[in-house]
Amino acid sequence: MKNFDLVQADQPADALKLKSAASTTRFIAGGTNLVDLMKYGIESPDTLVDISRLPLDTVAKTATGVRIGALARNSDVAVNKLITDQFPLLAQALLAGASPQLRNMATMGGNLMQRTRCYYFYDTSTPCNKRNPQSSEGPSGCGAIGGFNRIHAILGASSSCIATNPSDMNVALSALDAIVQIQGPNGNRSVPLIDFHRLPGNTPQRDNVLETNELIVGIDLPTPRMAGKSHYQKVRDRASYAFALVSVATRMAVENGTIRDIQIALGGVAHKPWRMPAVEKQAVGQPATEATFREVARQLLAEAKPQKDNAFKIKLAENTIVRSLQTVL
Ligand SMILES: Cc1cc2nc3c(=O)[nH]c(=O)nc-3n(C[C@H](O)[C@H](O)[C@H](O)COP(=O)(O)OP(=O)(O)OC[C@H]3O[C@@H](n4cnc5c(N)ncnc54)[C@H](O)[C@@H]3O)c2cc1C
Ligand code: SF4
Repeated sequence: MKNFDLVQADQPADALKLKSAASTTRFIAGGTNLVDLMKYGIESPDTLVDISRLPLDTVAKTATGVRIGALARNSDVAVNKLITDQFPLLAQALLAGASPQLRNMATMGGNLMQRTRCYYFYDTSTPCNKRNPQSSEGPSGCGAIGGFNRIHAILGASSSCIATNPSDMNVALSALDAIVQIQGPNGNRSVPLIDFHRLPGNTPQRDNVLETNELIVGIDLPTPRMAGKSHYQKVRDRASYAFALVSVATRMAVENGTIRDIQIALGGVAHKPWRMPAVEKQAVGQPATEATFREVARQLLAEAKPQKDNAFKIKLAENTIVRSLQTVL
């Protein structure tokens, strides 16, 4: 690993100033992803701006719901009473991720920003358009296309990149209509979670819409428009300490056997949490039966295109959606 300077910020404005002062800088929060990336030689910053002491680690009620500070630890958020009472889906997803030790370090902002687990991205001896966008564009710049691609995307992939977003938390936040709060040199802006992460297109080096001179300061969870129940279903190779092959975050309100409100987001299948509000809208007013759930699943997966090694994910995702909705019911 290359030598680097470490500077500490006490306030968000200082963090932004310190980041813009040096040439190759990165914020470091819990360090659970960034330090690995530095060890593998994928990131080699000259300066790390330690943001772990910023006063952004609380979970508090707001007029419209709950705000979670970007530096709140995943383990603290998962047991916070506001979250377990009002947004148990988020608590469940957080507890499905990583291990207790990692969750004690991992922050909400860092989790939003964590990078893909594509094997080729971490192996600097192989081509990768995400790690090295200048090398060559298209399939020849991607080790996974034509390589071993069991964990890769079935939705929204491009001819340059078929990576997935590995986070559990992001899937729940997508289903909960979360809003990412961002501070930059020219002020603050809010980005709905559904628009925060992006599809790879021909710029797979960009995982999300955050600019390099911006800091995530919080995540807002709006109070759901209708009371309902929720469930996070994660399918993985081991029962713990493994990333999702497929995951499903569901919220649903049912009255007299009819779906009144529904939100579904899929993880492990695309470069961003996969959500299709048009499909949810069509499901409202339908009977809450297995036949409806299966039809919803088919519509969510209608554009799925498997890679050589991951066709199993389509049926797995369909069944996981149905199982998740049945569990909520
Ligand atoms: C072995 C292992 C297993 C794991 N398993 C899972 C799993 O099953 N499910 C899952 O969801 N995750 C899993 N993770 C990932 C883990 O959740 C992430 O590493 C963690 O959430 C990252 O948070 P952090 O605070 O440590 O981020 P850091 O490593 O500190 O930072 C990550 C990135 O985010 C940027 N960043 C951090 N905070 C901010 C901010 N406020 N504003 C702007 N940029 C910011 C940093 O500059 C860096 O680029 C696993 C990780 C490991 C190592
Ligand atoms: S799928 Fe994306 S991250 Fe993986 S090797 Fe290809 S370009 Fe890189």
